[in-house]
Amino acid sequence: MSVPLPAAACAADLLAWAGHHLPTPEGRAEARLLLLHVLGQPAVWLFSHDREPVDPAAARRFGELVVRRAAGEPVAYLTGSRGFWNLELAVSPATLIPRPETELLVEQALLRLPDDGRPLRIADMGTGTGAVALAIAAERPQAMVLATDLLGPTLAVAVGNAQRNGIDNVHFRRGSWYRALGRDRFDVIVSNPPYIRSDDAHLQQGDLRFEPPAALASGEDGLEAIRIIAAGACDHLVPGGWLLLEHGWDQGPAVRALLDAAGLEQVQTVVDLEGRDRVSLGRRPGRSLWD
Ligand code: GLN
Repeated sequence: MSVPLPAAACAADLLAWAGHHLPTPEGRAEARLLLLHVLGQPAVWLFSHDREPVDPAAARRFGELVVRRAAGEPVAYLTGSRGFWNLELAVSPATLIPRPETELLVEQALLRLPDDGRPLRIADMGTGTGAVALAIAAERPQAMVLATDLLGPTLAVAVGNAQRNGIDNVHFRRGSWYRALGRDRFDVIVSNPPYIRSDDAHLQQGDLRFEPPAALASGEDGLEAIRIIAAGACDHLVPGGWLLLEHGWDQGPAVRALLDAAGLEQVQTVVDLEGRDRVSLGRRPGRSLWD
């Protein structure tokens, strides 16, 4: 765009310049995030240093990121990280960007994982950055979590995130859905699978344009992956074990029908902070260790 990056600039000048490219309140907050990222500073830094000159090379890097953001690239891909639960996770264009609503999946899984030191086995299928698996593993250090993904480069990001957060009770395996689980059985299986309809216009909007299509879309009705996951649940859960799935706000009835048809019991849907259907779950019949 036409407004040139100011030459000898302080943070306040740079943010004023960024306002031409990212004029909304959200855009201004994003520009602050990008500047702090380039400078390697925490948010409070801006309060006391915003009038100090910024190193010209850093100012140029900031300028490039602002222009890329204005062209639509997700902030998380520009900074290379995103907070989830209490973890800081590396993200790359090989992974879905973790979303706050997915914390509901973690919360609901934790409700079904006793915190009394007994050994537990959990699987997270299609782990992406590892967000769900790592959050559960951090909260249940005695549990063993298996995190799977179809793609090696994606799994490499998740492995790196385990190391960066010092979490050592997660194992990683590459493969499609239950194929990666083999003959093992789990107390809880979780997944945030792709669930968007392949013709959904949202796939052409916002951050979704830049995220891996295979992590987002799942067939004509968005339920292809969920159908596979529901159908195989009883073969991979211990008696009394739980399957929990994230899905779209309008998929609750369809997902519950698939969980019922797969022979699961106590099938229910939990709503997110916006009151929308977000996570559905069901239990394999039979007595579990904690009944
Ligand atoms: N919740 C994401 C979205 O609608 C989609 C994530 C997914 O398909 N698992 O933007």
